[in-house]
Amino acid sequence: MTDYVVDLAARHAHLYAVEGVFAVAPGASELSLKLPVWTPGSYLIREYERHIQELVATSTDGAALAVAKTDKATWRVQTAGHASVKVRWRVYAWDLTVRAAHLDGSHGFWNGACLFLYAEHLRHQPHRVRVKAPETWTITTALELVSDGVYLAADHDELVDSPFEVGSHELVEFQARGKPHRLAIWGQVSTPRQELVGDIVKIIDAASEIFDGEVPYAHYTFLLLSSPGQYGGLEHARSCTLLTSPFTFQPRAKYEEFLELVSHEFFHLWNVKRIRPSVLGPFDYQQEAYTRSLWVMEGITSYYDRYLLVRAGLQPPQRYLEKLAEELAKIRALPGRFRQSLEESSFDAWIKLYRPDENTGNSTISYYLKGGVVALLLDLHIRARTEGARSLDDVMRALYRRARTTKTGFADDEVQRLLEEASGIGLQEFFDVLVRGRGEIDPTPFLRTVGLAARPEEASDGGPRGFLGATLKEAGDAVRIASVLEDGPATSAGLYAGDDIIALDGFRVSLSTFKERLGLLRPGEVAKLTLFRRDELRTLNVPLGPPPVESWEIVPVTDSTEAERAAYQRWLGAAWTPPE
Ligand SMILES: [Zn+2]
Repeated sequence: MTDYVVDLAARHAHLYAVEGVFAVAPGASELSLKLPVWTPGSYLIREYERHIQELVATSTDGAALAVAKTDKATWRVQTAGHASVKVRWRVYAWDLTVRAAHLDGSHGFWNGACLFLYAEHLRHQPHRVRVKAPETWTITTALELVSDGVYLAADHDELVDSPFEVGSHELVEFQARGKPHRLAIWGQVSTPRQELVGDIVKIIDAASEIFDGEVPYAHYTFLLLSSPGQYGGLEHARSCTLLTSPFTFQPRAKYEEFLELVSHEFFHLWNVKRIRPSVLGPFDYQQEAYTRSLWVMEGITSYYDRYLLVRAGLQPPQRYLEKLAEELAKIRALPGRFRQSLEESSFDAWIKLYRPDENTGNSTISYYLKGGVVALLLDLHIRARTEGARSLDDVMRALYRRARTTKTGFADDEVQRLLEEASGIGLQEFFDVLVRGRGEIDPTPFLRTVGLAARPEEASDGGPRGFLGATLKEAGDAVRIASVLEDGPATSAGLYAGDDIIALDGFRVSLSTFKERLGLLRPGEVAKLTLFRRDELRTLNVPLGPPPVESWEIVPVTDSTEAERAAYQRWLGAAWTPPE
């Protein structure tokens, strides 16, 4: 048993005081303690150890012990013959994200990776945490409560996988699938609780129906943190953290995005927490866990997150198709779709997806975005090839049963075979083109199987607008070029990321007036830009190009067959409706 105490007394300084008592391995003169350098589910080396300070070690009766750091995340304690040692450290926690730790006068939220040093030889034994917080505060975590303020994790993995929310948050308890669930709410959430819980239960029901109607836990905890400008989620085996803005809860379209987040993190409790590549559990917390299969974990989950809303009756099919069309348009706007396959995007998550820069759109494609669309195409493909006998649901169920039986992950090169076995169809070409390939996605043959087609949406206000080929953001009084599209008009004219535009055709602009006035120019017309580049004033003439297709729509085909209409009904649970 490893015992920890987490004290929140220095909350206004955002410092957790942590104490750990570690048993020394028999005969060992040294004890190595490490902190994870990343949190499972967030694929970037974050070096949480940079927030550790004031670490001291003593014997359990208080005699000082020598400690030396041996690398960025390892502390070596001289045990001086003691059977166990006590180590204290403080953790600076001022990162309000789902993957990190935060502490202030209103609450403490943490992921175990940020707080708990661990000893390798004790990792598979139980870990106990005592939380010292103001008496009026509530402690919410998926870990088992063993006595007042004391929680038990079966091992270090469970400790890392069980975030804590400690504070004066609201706690809503409810039942779903016959199991107790809790929803902890920190910050402002305007949705009436009955409606919020009702919608979450619908998501739980819709997701569990895929997996034989079962939920693989005794209880489940949603930690909902609401703070302006925030968005993110992180999945765990028996809980999830949802971070969102107080302004997410209305209007309806925004609220549906929030429900998508709930659905996404909840679906992960099967897909990635249980169905997983072998490098994603048990984890090596000290280095990158490379896998070419994040598209399976995140892409398939991204497909189901919104699709489940349709199945749960929380989003109309038409809205679902509109969002799908937006995603197709987004992919088509990124030159990076020809530079990375889904497998490559997965593998390089650690250096690319989580570290976006001005070249990201030109050089990469997200395994969430493309992965979600490819998962949809896979579902439609399986449905069509098996004449409706099977779907991606059957695949996920089979993968889950395999994971439950074997309790192991899969190797990257097993993925195609596992999906083929579960679906009963060959997927060589599908994988070659859509998973391992870097080509254009053509959704046409897949959508046709459900009586639909994707087509560019016609511009609504007459002639085409001049196209600059750059993304913009506000920077003080200027309009900053955030990125430029490879081979676009901005690149051809020599406009660079970081340029600060102050005037268009001699008149000062803000972000909104720049967009407005640029929108009045036509392809072939020249935008005269006055800008600062590295503080030097310049003028640049940019001939505008023709716009790429900006939006797509998904529409019913005019000559659908009965089989296609039936397939649509099976897929979206509503009758196919003919074109207007
Ligand atoms: Zn995810």
